[in-house]
Amino acid sequence: MSATATDTKYVYSFGGGKADGDTTMKNLLGGKGANLAEMSNIGLPVPAGFTITTELCTYYYDHDRSYPPELKDQVDSAMRQIEEVMGAKFGDSENPLLLSCRSGARESMPGMMDTILNLGLNDETVQALAKSSGNEAFAYDSYRRLIQMYGEVVMGMKPQAKEDPDYFEDILEKKKHEFGVEFDSQLTAENLKEVVAQFKAKVKEVTGKDFPTDPNEQVWGAISAVFGSWMNDRAMVYRREYGIPHEWGTATNVQAMVFGNLGDDCATGVGLTRDCAIGEPGFNGDYLINAQGEDVVAGIRAPKRIEETLAQDMPEAYEHLDKIGKTLERHYKEVQDIEFTVQKGQVWMLQTRNAKRTGFAAVKIAVDLVNEGLITPEEALQPKRVPADGLNQLLQPLFDPSAKKQASEDGHLLTKAINAGPGAATGQIVFHASDAEEEYEKDKNVQMILVRRETSPEDLRGMRLAKGILTAFGGASSHAALVSRQMGKTCIVGASELDIDYHAGTVTVGDKVLKAGDWISIDGFTGEVFEGKVDTSASEIIEVLINKTKKPEDAPIYQRYSQLMEWVDKHRTLNVRANTEADEAEKSAAFGAEGVGLCRTEHMFFSRLDDMREMILATDQATREAAVMKLLPHQKEDFTKLFEAMAGKPVTIRLLDPPLHEFLSHHHLEEDPDLAHKLADMTGKSKEDIHRRVEELAESNPMLGFRGCRLGIVYPEITAMQARAIFEAACELKKSGTEVLPEVMIPLAGFAAEFKNQAKIVRETAAKVFEEQGIEIPYLVGTMIEIPRAALTADEIAQDAEFFSFGTNDLTQTTLGMSRDDYGPFITKYREADIVPNDPFQTVDQSGVGKLMKIGIEGGRGVKSDLKIGICGEHGGDPNSVMFCHRAGLNYVSCSPFRIPIAKLAAAQVALLAD
Ligand code: ADP
Ligand code: MG
Ligand code: MG
Repeated sequence: MSATATDTKYVYSFGGGKADGDTTMKNLLGGKGANLAEMSNIGLPVPAGFTITTELCTYYYDHDRSYPPELKDQVDSAMRQIEEVMGAKFGDSENPLLLSCRSGARESMPGMMDTILNLGLNDETVQALAKSSGNEAFAYDSYRRLIQMYGEVVMGMKPQAKEDPDYFEDILEKKKHEFGVEFDSQLTAENLKEVVAQFKAKVKEVTGKDFPTDPNEQVWGAISAVFGSWMNDRAMVYRREYGIPHEWGTATNVQAMVFGNLGDDCATGVGLTRDCAIGEPGFNGDYLINAQGEDVVAGIRAPKRIEETLAQDMPEAYEHLDKIGKTLERHYKEVQDIEFTVQKGQVWMLQTRNAKRTGFAAVKIAVDLVNEGLITPEEALQPKRVPADGLNQLLQPLFDPSAKKQASEDGHLLTKAINAGPGAATGQIVFHASDAEEEYEKDKNVQMILVRRETSPEDLRGMRLAKGILTAFGGASSHAALVSRQMGKTCIVGASELDIDYHAGTVTVGDKVLKAGDWISIDGFTGEVFEGKVDTSASEIIEVLINKTKKPEDAPIYQRYSQLMEWVDKHRTLNVRANTEADEAEKSAAFGAEGVGLCRTEHMFFSRLDDMREMILATDQATREAAVMKLLPHQKEDFTKLFEAMAGKPVTIRLLDPPLHEFLSHHHLEEDPDLAHKLADMTGKSKEDIHRRVEELAESNPMLGFRGCRLGIVYPEITAMQARAIFEAACELKKSGTEVLPEVMIPLAGFAAEFKNQAKIVRETAAKVFEEQGIEIPYLVGTMIEIPRAALTADEIAQDAEFFSFGTNDLTQTTLGMSRDDYGPFITKYREADIVPNDPFQTVDQSGVGKLMKIGIEGGRGVKSDLKIGICGEHGGDPNSVMFCHRAGLNYVSCSPFRIPIAKLAAAQVALLAD
């Protein structure tokens, strides 16, 4: 069959200084393929190869795992091209070309899918390779690797769980022992021939099939395995975790092999053009002399550090690589994560991609790249450069320096290794991901440090549950380092002094033996590992902004943060307020809150429980009013503090919201056996009366019960008291020259009439207070939109309301009919089954709750075109939800103080995207 004009092009060649594709074609060629093409185009040394597109992957799954008829011809002709560029022939018995078959999706998925090296070897070609390379051990080492990878990936012999047999490694271990060597690189050709024979026998024994000797069968087997690996379990779990759609598919790359295992002038390595843990400049990474492929990250031999010894080991290769790194950074305007092989002194590039980095490093790198003139501030703000959530890492606590010093003096410093993920983590040792899952099932608050020789994709779930990760092998590009960077976990790798015995469940360092369950502390900034717990202290940014214990000029991290935030403030249009009460108001202001979006007033009530209970137990209005008025001075004091901290900025105060049984219930009476007696004394009622009242207050579904404005409607004196406290505080401050902008918020209204009822009390109280005080201040009365009826009748409510604030916690509960206290047991399953794209209590359910929000906005603004609308649920600090709020036309989001920088960055990012 020959190609016709209507045939789809599924195969794109690269190498020899040119390519069919380029870096813009990631969707079609996958990240790896697109960048191999790009590197060829810009003249970097790339072994020739071709990429089979992601479209083919889609075809493959749409057609019951089969290929379109035109594929074979396209692959054949691309193979001829490789042979021409490389000057060797696939399957040839004199000068055989060997190939690798590599997966490559749009987004990198470290270690999730499979790669097979050395395709094309069989009993005949291996001898030719031995001859042409003049190195028989190398040829047989390559051969045994092929059988191993092919057996595992294509023929299903890979161990899936920790109790599964590891067929090939077991044979290899036994042979090494038998021949008295420590490393596989020390095996002789004769040794390796025996290994090969045993490997082949094992394949036959386990699968009932022979290892395929036909090179073409090998290549097609490998291609199908790569496409097949897209839908394997761990790849699916990974995609769910990182929000990568299953429909994208992977590409497959077939590429001429180059060899890092041909002798001591050969090496294989992985590197970063700058450090991606804390963001320091400089080429760094891991390499191994005389090794192939995954050896570096697999932790078989401890890799060497590029920045420490490569310049001495291989001066020319080092210089060439450093230069290539700089070329790539300039070309991509981004830090690169590269994979390379040195064959007989010659450098070959096998991969480049934008490097994953910690949130910590992201800020430093983005600001540095602007200052180096490589990118603009607007580019620095792109979500892919600084994910808004990543800012969180800059605010996390560190180990307290004096506590660390003490720990060292006490002899608790165990070792120091590579700092791969910044942060301070303390926890109990677990050695297996499955143990971490078990411990977590027993106690959701358990603090664990996952301690392993190295990690692999199977460990993902456990890594997510651990506070920190510590490995004995691997460097800054190891699986553990990569994944923890992505997860934002504290991580230390390459702690080679650790002697981990999984069997015994111990880790030995020098003369110390620690067991599973023992506490350790790891410092992801410095790489120090301590025995026991170490106290933490605040991050640099907190020290400068909040504690004021450090000056900005002494704080390099803070400086970059503030440079970034300047750009953020220039670009965002959404305001960011704080959900805060009086005691955290100052902190919120320090983080740059532009007002308070939600002050919950009930906390003060909890600290005045006696008065509150007297109010609740009152049976006549006069008694109730008297009890309520006792609360007034305390509310007023709180509001005064809050208004002062937020001088000149709007402050939204929500009137009493929680059901009354939160203040008095059976639970309270049981906890304190004297309480009923005390309350009876206080109110002059009988203990039976007290119990009867408590009985009345109990609710079977408090979320939908007697709460919110329903309280103020039944007990108007509460609303009146709260309004009086607000306006008296405001007027008094105003007289002393402080600008005050109160916004009084009615909770849980669903009927316009509910709002009117409460607003009337607030406005009448305001008028009274203004008259008494002889001064007037501007204020607003608005409502929370937190039940569907309010959103649906927003037009009616807006007749009287002066602002809206979406209470998305309750709006999510009432729209989804899902209680946030009860959704835990099934939400994980929902996520795994792709029933919901996100946790709806973390990220706004855009097509449901979001739709109601849009109806509410339209309804409100249809009546008052400039109606001020915000959001004050937990979602206000979630970047995705912030972006949604910007698009929906909200004026502000409000979130907890620590999330303010995150919300601001997300707001700038969405504003820039929209431009
Ligand atoms: P992953 O996506 O898991 O990183 P890769 O496809 O990049 O898998 O392959 C892993 C490693 O295998 C590479 O880093 C490289 O060291 C080695 N490798 C892949 N293809 C070749 C090749 N053509 N020549 C030499 N080594 C290769
Ligand atoms: Mg790779
Ligand atoms: Mg609510």
